[in-house]
Amino acid sequence: LGGAGDDYDYLFKVVMIGDSGVGKSNLIHRFTKNEFRVETQTTMGVEFAKKSIKIDDKIVKAQIWDTAGQERFRAITSAYYRGALGALLVYDISKQSTYDSLTRWLAEIRDYGERGIVVILIGNKCDLLHLRAISTEDGQILADTHGLKFLETSALDATNVEDAFNELLKEIYKSVV
Ligand code: GDP
Ligand code: MG
Repeated sequence: LGGAGDDYDYLFKVVMIGDSGVGKSNLIHRFTKNEFRVETQTTMGVEFAKKSIKIDDKIVKAQIWDTAGQERFRAITSAYYRGALGALLVYDISKQSTYDSLTRWLAEIRDYGERGIVVILIGNKCDLLHLRAISTEDGQILADTHGLKFLETSALDATNVEDAFNELLKEIYKSVV
């Protein structure tokens, strides 16, 4: 193991999936740094962030991969999914097209994802009450159809962001321990 602060019992790779602009990068920033960015920053190449949490007295380190803009060109490759034990599949509750894309993303996860990958469906930007285009029920129905857990989040006001990542890591932990 590395130096102080770099010890862990488990390292889980997780990936962010979903249309461009749904808030994937901001969900990561909120979870790992408790920050929000108003401006969209598109960085080319692969980006990832890390954060450790405790489950059952074990230190579980999440290595969270961000698409860094490639989703726009549908250029997410098998390398992105390789070894990923979990995925947050994100849509924007204020934008219908991002919800309509979900079946396509689910097909991609099925094709490229590891067998047994844990997926949680996330309806992000739930702070945008007056702009809501997708009801909570419609999110839940899609999640139930595909056997996924479902949460609505806001990277802006931090609603359910910790819960979403913690839930994902706990589900993965249960599946590997
Ligand atoms: P990505 O392309 O999926 O990584 O999305 P970003 O994280 O770059 O966010 C896209 C835009 O949506 C940015 O302008 C963010 O400030 C905004 N955004 C992200 N999350 C939220 C949220 O929870 N609520 C609101 N109101 N805006 C958000
Ligand atoms: Mg991004």
